[in-house]
This record gives sequence, structure tokens and C-alpha cells, in this order.
Amino acid sequence: MRMEENRALAPLTTMGIGGAARWFVEASSERDLVEAFAWARERGVEIFVLGGGSNLLVADRGFDGLVVRIALKGMEADTGVYRVAAGEEWDGFVSRAVTDGCAGVECLAGIPGTVGGTPVQNVGAYGQEVAETIERVRVLDRATLEFHELAAAECGFAYRESIFNTTARERFVATRVDYRLRPGGAANLRYADVQRVFAGVAEPGLSQVAAAVREIRRGKGMLLVTGDADCRSAGSFFRNPVLASEKFHALTERLGAEPPHYSAGGTGRVKLPAAWLIEQAGFAKGFTLGQVGISSRHTLALVNRGGGTAREMMALRDRIVAEVEARFGVRLEMEPVTLGF
Ligand SMILES: Cc1cc2nc3c(=O)[nH]c(=O)nc-3n(C[C@H](O)[C@H](O)[C@H](O)COP(=O)(O)OP(=O)(O)OC[C@H]3O[C@@H](n4cnc5c(N)ncnc54)[C@H](O)[C@@H]3O)c2cc1C
Repeated sequence: MRMEENRALAPLTTMGIGGAARWFVEASSERDLVEAFAWARERGVEIFVLGGGSNLLVADRGFDGLVVRIALKGMEADTGVYRVAAGEEWDGFVSRAVTDGCAGVECLAGIPGTVGGTPVQNVGAYGQEVAETIERVRVLDRATLEFHELAAAECGFAYRESIFNTTARERFVATRVDYRLRPGGAANLRYADVQRVFAGVAEPGLSQVAAAVREIRRGKGMLLVTGDADCRSAGSFFRNPVLASEKFHALTERLGAEPPHYSAGGTGRVKLPAAWLIEQAGFAKGFTLGQVGISSRHTLALVNRGGGTAREMMALRDRIVAEVEARFGVRLEMEPVTLGF
């Protein structure tokens, strides 16, 4: 375990914003992880667990604690069950699964970050989310420094949610995630954008679907492509708000017409597209505030246009949240995690 001091964090995030970590270490094994936590505990130092930094906004002043970057590697596959170390790149795992002919994650191609980051907010896109395939998550309990294996049912998965970002936030560190995929299974074509690509094609293969998803993402600046200014983001900056049916009816009355919406699964709750709310509140793609702004190709992605600061990013967030709330009475929630604020 090699402890570094004052390590710049901006280059370790996709937004490229923020100051340095007072202490920094890479954990390549479970033993490193335990050592790092014991080191911090002895000194009363706060810890932050970093994956690929693709869902993270770091404060300009940095973080006065220890950042532990998850670098555990390895992948084992056995009849559709993949046991993947938390530090593996997510998209590398998707490519392997698709090549092996195993269905279940093909629509999640092109999402940046690590495998260990995926259960945290139940990563999802284009009609799939990891909750559908995660079987088990191996974790370190930060309180006891013991390892446990949590079954999917214990992870509390919901839309962009799990125990890891709600009730047990900062309690567990994922060291391995097990996914149960479907060998020889058909590709998921639930999402309209994907269906459009394959109109008239009887049964597109997994690799065709994964490639199509990557292409759709590239078009929206939601794929990390060197030189693409629109991908210096943390993906979607706002969650799609979920409204109880009474609140949705009240909003419909207020607007005089139903806003676009889709079912949030049972109980009459509906999800509103945050992008529509933002656009209707007066923010167009390409909107700029100082050195940050809204992506020119995706309303939900707030981007660093180069030299942007966390302060500017938060000012833009506050402005969007305030305008949407004033117009619709709906409060948008930020999706990326913040550090050092
Ligand atoms: C261009 C772009 C497109 C994106 N598209 C999508 C999308 O379509 N769908 C989607 O859901 N997300 C999307 N994202 C967001 C992001 O890629 C995911 O949330 C990703 O899973 C985050 O993983 P990470 O390793 O980068 O986590 P980080 O950003 O490093 O960390 C995020 C949070 O997870 C915690 N964490 C990370 N690793 C672990 C671990 N091993 N154990 C415990 N906690 C951990 C951190 O402490 C932090 O709280 C996108 C981001 C970008 C930049």
C-alpha cells in the first residue's frame, strides 16, 4: 500500500473538476483495503471510496481526508455467472459478456466507471438496470472491517437507488459483484431508441445491440470519446423525478395538459423526464454559465467546458433547480455524488 499526499482528483473524474485529496491510496486487494481503513481509523481521518470518478463532483478545495481508489482486478465466469472484481472497468465486462453470448447487460454498454460503482445507484439505461442481473455483492463493512456477501434482495435496489446510496450509505465497500446473465439469451429491445435501430430485424444479436447503444450514446455525447467536449460530464446530472399520482394530477391541472410521463412501476406513481422539465423551464441544450453549461447534445448532462469549477457547476445546478421548481413545483434531485463540499 503506497500512501500519496495531495493527489489531484480532477484527472480521476470524468468532469475534470475539483481540488486534491490530502491522502490517496490505490487498493489492489482486499488486504490493501483493510489496511487503508485501519490506517485512517488510527488517525481519525475521513475516507472516500473512489471508483472511476464518473458520477462524482469534487469541490474546488478538494478533500481533507483519504481517498481510496478501488483497483481490485479479476473476472471469473461459470455458466452465465460472472464474478467480477470491483475495480474492473464496467464496459470491459459488458464487452466480455456480449462476446460470450450472455444476455443481460448489453443495453448498458458504454457506461463509464467501475463494476463496483454499478450497484451503488443501480446503474441503468436503455431499458436495463443492473438490479436485473446482480446476484450478490461482496462487501467490506467499514464499521467492523469484516467481509460479507449480500444477496441482491438485501441491496434494496430501486430506480437509481440501493442501500449503498441510502440507508447504508458509506457503510459498505463493494469488492466484487456477481452477475447472473443468460447464456444464449435474446437481446433486450425494450427501449424505443433501440427498437427504432432494429425495425424490421427479426432478432438482433447481443453485439449488434451493444454496438447500437454505444452509437446512440456517442450521438448524445454520453460516451467517453477523446476530444468530445460534451462528454466532460458525470452523465445525467438530475434524476427523473417520480411523483405520486395526486401530485401528478395537481401538476396536470396547473399546466392545463398532461406533461410527458411514464409509469414508475405500480402504485400509480409516474416518472417525469427531467430533460423536458429543464427545457420547458427555459434552458436549451448548449446553455452556458461561465466555463460550465448544458451539453449541446443532451439536456441532462452538465458539462465542464474547460477550466470550469465546482462552484460554477453548483451555481448552474441551483439555477436549473430553482427555475424548474418555480414553473412546475417539482424539485429536481442531483444524481452525482459530491465530495469535499
Ligand atoms: C458520459 C457518462 C454517461 C453515463 N451514463 C450513465 C447511464 O446511462 N446510466 C447510469 O446509471 N449512470 C451513468 N453515468 C454515471 C456513472 O457512469 C455511473 O454511475 C457509474 O456506475 C459510476 O461508477 P464509478 O466507478 O465511476 O463511481 P464513482 O463516480 O467513482 O463513485 C460514485 C459513488 O459510488 C461509490 N463507489 C464507487 N465504487 C464503489 C465501491 N467499490 N464500493 C462502494 N462504493 C463505491 C463512491 O463512493 C461514490 O459514492 C454516466 C456517466 C458519464 C460520465
